[in-house]
Parts: sequence; structure tokens; C-alpha cells
Amino acid sequence: MVDASEQYLFQGYSLPVYKTGVLIIGSGAASLSCAIHLHRMGCSKMLIVTDNRNGGTSRNTGSDKQTYYRQSDASHVPDSPYAMVESYIRGGATHGDIAFVEAQNSLRAFYNLVSLGMDFPHNRYGGYTGYKTDHDPSSRGISLGPYTSREMVRVLSAEVQRNGTPFWDQCDVVRLLTDENDQMVGAVILDKTKLYEENHGLSVILADHVVLGTGGPAGFYASSVYPRVHVGSIGLAMEIGAEAANLTESQFGIASIKFRWNLSGSYQQVLPRYYSTDREGNNPEDFLSPYFSSWEALTNAVFLKGYQWPFDAAKISDEGSSLIDLLVYQETQVKGRRVFMDFRENLTGKSEWSDFSKTCVASSALGYLQTSGAWAETPYKRLQLLNQAAIDMYASNHIDLSKEPLEIDVCAQHNNGGLAADIWWESTNIAHLYPIGEVNGSHGVSRPGGSALNAGQVGALRAAIRIMGYGTPMRSSLQACKMQINDLI
Ligand SMILES: Cc1cc2nc3c(=O)[nH]c(=O)nc-3n(C[C@H](O)[C@H](O)[C@H](O)COP(=O)(O)OP(=O)(O)OC[C@H]3O[C@@H](n4cnc5c(N)ncnc54)[C@H](O)[C@@H]3O)c2cc1C
Repeated sequence: MVDASEQYLFQGYSLPVYKTGVLIIGSGAASLSCAIHLHRMGCSKMLIVTDNRNGGTSRNTGSDKQTYYRQSDASHVPDSPYAMVESYIRGGATHGDIAFVEAQNSLRAFYNLVSLGMDFPHNRYGGYTGYKTDHDPSSRGISLGPYTSREMVRVLSAEVQRNGTPFWDQCDVVRLLTDENDQMVGAVILDKTKLYEENHGLSVILADHVVLGTGGPAGFYASSVYPRVHVGSIGLAMEIGAEAANLTESQFGIASIKFRWNLSGSYQQVLPRYYSTDREGNNPEDFLSPYFSSWEALTNAVFLKGYQWPFDAAKISDEGSSLIDLLVYQETQVKGRRVFMDFRENLTGKSEWSDFSKTCVASSALGYLQTSGAWAETPYKRLQLLNQAAIDMYASNHIDLSKEPLEIDVCAQHNNGGLAADIWWESTNIAHLYPIGEVNGSHGVSRPGGSALNAGQVGALRAAIRIMGYGTPMRSSLQACKMQINDLI
């Protein structure tokens, strides 16, 4: 619920001023989940404001097997939050207590999604068995296929609609407002459907709590696999002096750039040809083989890239899989060339090596392809046998892998750093501001694949508990932030 507006004059412009208890910014998986928890806990005064109900990363992205990470409760091997937190903190740049809270609450968050209708694969006994994902020594990953986070947004949005939470679409938050004690008191929003009105669609929302679920800073990156519709708004919090953590820790990996899609899993396991050209597409060069000592080492590294998709500095030496990312980066960003993966042709070796054949392929890759019934002469045929859906994905985006190569780069996928917050996802220095989801800097250097989605769901729950714990004082006053609004206008 939102209180009816009153009009106030700011620099000669008449702006409506609304009041609510909790202002939730964004409509990604994290924000929607927070609204649902708040509603269940009895919060009646809240408002979701989003710049685009169809925007955001959760709704618009996917990958070969988009993963949700949670404590395993259906495997032969016993698991616990204590074991899980070890996986979280291994790579560094994590806060131990926060990682522990994410582990401890992961099952609650996961079963919330199940209860809202997410049909994760399970056995006949009701056990949600999982698989190993990146940086995961256990089997805590679970997936609905390429579009797990889109399905999350679908079920979460349906619940928000069912419970009648006010939802304002096409509204950009353009300024967060604080009082003299660095406490949140609200935000200024720009209604993009009212730009031509006298006040240009600006209004003020006073709120006791502000949940910021604006996602990763996608607009920062030149080479990116974030959906094009998503830009991010971490700057809103920076502008009011919110502390940040580990901002330099972004996650990168190989992705196609015409249609943005991670080239993980089967795309690498079928061992496509990698080559670069000049800007005009001439002078092709098979740039990988000079850096590998044998066919075995080269095919093993490309094959492993399927499992080890994110760039990881620890996997460069000894002809590791991240050497591939580094070599692609060298071609595109250092030499200014274009790089392609071509499924019509096999990898090319050094001149002194034999021609590519089955006997050249590392036993890891060959064993996998043969066991899967997917050995064939070309990467394209292998991909048809291994994962036809991977071909169809490109076909539905007007790219025929049997006829054209894929232009690729090492692309940003996730910011592991972000705003600093405590174990309740409340900002470390701006009271009543709750950065949740990707905008929160809790993610660490090499967290297991799928932990971003879990972090968003757990953060949403924790912020809701914290907000309800404060009670509903309705303390925000326009007086406290009038100057900031005048400055903006
Ligand atoms: C290619 C790819 C693959 C991925 N695969 C996985 C995976 O397998 N497992 C995993 O755990 N994670 C994965 N991730 C990461 C994960 O998808 C994201 O971290 C997560 O979806 C972010 O959710 P969010 O709710 O924080 O933000 P988003 O879903 O990005 O939502 C942000 C919302 O804020 C709104 N917004 C932004 N600025 C403003 C503003 N100024 N005013 C109003 N509204 C605003 C947006 O419109 C949007 O609604 C992947 C990411 C990518 C790009």
C-alpha cells in the first residue's frame, strides 16, 4: 500500500510526494522474492518500483544449464552448511559470516521456490538430487535447463500479483534520499510514461526502508554476456556514499557476441576450431596450438572449458583450461583481432603434429564423447549427437552453426563485488538500505556456479526479516531530504 500523494513545490516544479513503509527497487528474482517474504510476514505498506517489468538479468538471461546452488539434501554424501561454506570461501574475497548465512538458508530459499511452483527435477521419493557445478566439490547444483532464472521470475511475479503488492512499471529511480544521519528516507523516481508532463514525470517516494535489487553493473562492460536490456544502477548507492566491497572482482568467460550466450558445456566438449582474423575477416590464424605442447594438452584444455567456464587465474598454468580465455583475450583486446569458434571444422594443431583425428583427442574428452554416443567427424556432428538443443538455441536466434562460425570474446557475466552489507543485507554505513541480489558484494572470487541466484534469494529473506524486526515507525520526513531533491532538480 502507498499513501495518497500530496503535491510539493521544488524549484518551481510541483511534484507528487508519496509515503510507504518499504520501497523495493527492481523486479528481478531478488526484489520480487523480498516482496513476497515481506507480505507473508505481514508487511502491508510496500511498493515495488521498476524501470522495466521485462528487464533485468534474471528475466533475460540463461546458459547451457543455468544452475541454482543449495545445500544438498538428497545425495548419498551427507552435506551441511559448514561444508558448504568451505566451498564459498575457498577463492577468497568472501565474508565468512555472510557466506555461512547463505549456506544455512539455502534450503529454505530453494524450497520457497519449489512451493511457488518451480518444477526442479526430483526423484520419485521427492529428493531433489543435484550435480557438480563450477568450483563445487559436492553435488549442490540443480537446474531447470537454460532458463532457470527466467522461471524464477515467472513464479515470483505471479505470487506478487496474487498478493496484490503495488507495482509501478516504467519508473526509473534516479536518486536515493537520506537524512542527516545517513539513514534512508526514500527516493526520487522518473515515470517514463509522463516525461512530457509539466514536472517531467518526477515524483518523490518517502519510505522507512529501501531494498535495492538493481542487479549487476552491466553497463560498465564493453565485452559482455549480460542481456542487452540490463544496465544496472549501483551508482545510485555510490552517490549517497554507500560502502562497497570487492568491486574489482568480476566474473568473465567465453561467450558469443552477436547473440549473447555463454559457450560452456557441450559447446566446448565437442572441440570446435578456434581461430582469429583481422578486423575485416581476413588473415585467419589458429592461435591456440602454439601455446600447447601436444594434441592431448590442447584437446584436454578445450574440453575442460566446458566444465570450467569462468576464467580462473589458478587454471592458467600447466596448460589449464583458463589459458584458452587468456589467449582469446590476447587476440581480441591486445592484438585487436576478431575471434571465432567454428563447429564445421576441427581444431588445427602445430605443423609438426599429425592431422586431427580420434587418436589425437585427450582420453578425458574422447571417453566422454564415446560414452555419450557423440563421437563423429566434425564438432557440428558431435554437437548434434550430444546436445541438439544447443544448436537449436542458436538457430532460434538466426545463427546456423552448420553454415557460419560464431564470433566470440571473453565477456563479463557477473560482478562478484558490489555494495557492502551485514549479515542482514543492510548496508554497512547507510541505515535502512538493503542491497540484495547481484548488487550486493558478497559473491567472492570463485564462488560455485549457481550461488548468485541463491545469494539473491537468501538476501531477500534476510532483509525482509530485518525490516519486520524494526517495526513500522513511518519516520521518513520530507524535511530531511528536501535539499537533495532541490539539488537534483
Ligand atoms: C549469461 C549469464 C548466465 C548466468 N548464469 C547463472 C547461473 O547459472 N547461476 C547463477 O546463480 N547465476 C547466474 N547468472 C547470474 C544471475 O543471473 C544474476 O546474478 C541474477 O539474475 C541477478 O538477479 P537480481 O535480482 O539481483 O537482478 P536483475 O535480475 O538484474 O534485476 C534487476 C532489476 O532492477 C531493475 N532496475 C535497475 N536499475 C533500476 C533503476 N534505476 N530504477 C528502477 N529499476 C531498476 C531492472 O529493471 C531489473 O528489474 C548468470 C548471469 C548471466 C549474465
